[in-house]
Amino acid sequence: MSSDDTSRLKSQIRGVFEGGGYVFATKAANIARDAGFTNPARLASNENPFGISDAAVNAAKEALDSGNRYPDETADSLVKALAQYHADCGVKLNVVTGVGMDGVIENVIRTIIGAGDKVVVSTPTFSFYNLAVTAQGGVVQNVRRREDFTVGVPEFVGACRGAKIAFLCSPNNPTGTITPVEDIEEILKGLLKEGCMLFLDNAYVDFCDTDYRRLMKDYDNLIIGRTMSKAFGLAGMRVGYAFVPDWYLPYYKRAQTPFALNNISIAAAVGALSDREFVRRYVNHVKEWRDAFGAGLKYKVYPAGANFVMIDVAPQKSDDVVAKLAKKGVIVRSCASFPTLGDTFIRVSIGDSWENEMFLKAMNEI
Ligand code: PMP
Repeated sequence: MSSDDTSRLKSQIRGVFEGGGYVFATKAANIARDAGFTNPARLASNENPFGISDAAVNAAKEALDSGNRYPDETADSLVKALAQYHADCGVKLNVVTGVGMDGVIENVIRTIIGAGDKVVVSTPTFSFYNLAVTAQGGVVQNVRRREDFTVGVPEFVGACRGAKIAFLCSPNNPTGTITPVEDIEEILKGLLKEGCMLFLDNAYVDFCDTDYRRLMKDYDNLIIGRTMSKAFGLAGMRVGYAFVPDWYLPYYKRAQTPFALNNISIAAAVGALSDREFVRRYVNHVKEWRDAFGAGLKYKVYPAGANFVMIDVAPQKSDDVVAKLAKKGVIVRSCASFPTLGDTFIRVSIGDSWENEMFLKAMNEI
């Protein structure tokens, strides 16, 4: 093919994909590998270091036999298992699923956002909202959190004027900050007057004691996103879900990619939900080590409700610290790519005990 042909074809690609894209934490992993570490401490992606529950593995193995069949298009067994898992909150919840919470986010945006529509995002935060909105032709307005990374409720609500949906993450990635339920409630009231939805990202909520589920009872403009990638250790299975209001349920279903979840991920997720002890053990481990990270470092560690902490390494630069740690076999995430955050923050997942010890030692050496 001539270069003219290629150029003509390339010109068909939408401008939003000319640059950007999701930033993966692969650079540090390469440095650690080049330094000879075959089993580095993997503390960059907020994964469950204890692996995956036997109940999930056994169910997934069994599901392999049905690989010739399309999955249940409604993922009914998973939806039922999730409803049962959350029955303790005392509120009837409508559950929808997606290929990871990323898939849920994409689907929600698809139902609401068209070219030029305004979306508000509380930043610094998880970058995928921005990518997914932009891909759909929407326009993001970032609203910065306060200096201590708490959300300024009046500023946030004010910025949502004319927006169709707003994204807020709690506990927030990468800062770890928990937004109080009362603040979310105030935001929901303010947004409802504007006809604006709130997507509350609860990817890390299992690691804190704040529970937003009861809000689903009273607020028709709330969607709560959840994932099984973190507390349940199913990152590789790509299982996300959300609680949605009654009126919204049919729209989500119409916009959903058919057969999005596969037989194996559905089965693994149902299996994982039956093993509450696995989750409890991991969550307790995270809470213990989160306190130890807070106490064991000479840097500012921000209070976190997640399975990671954010650390200010100033006056050093985050990218330099990440490279130095990688040379010592510890992979963490530089936050330099999070818009509006600056270049002195790193995010460190709570790993297995040996990984955490390796991190604390390495961090105090550099
Ligand atoms: N929201 C936040 C805040 C996250 O950190 C992540 C994972 N990095 C996701 C959503 C997406 O999770 P999943 O693996 O379910 O797609």
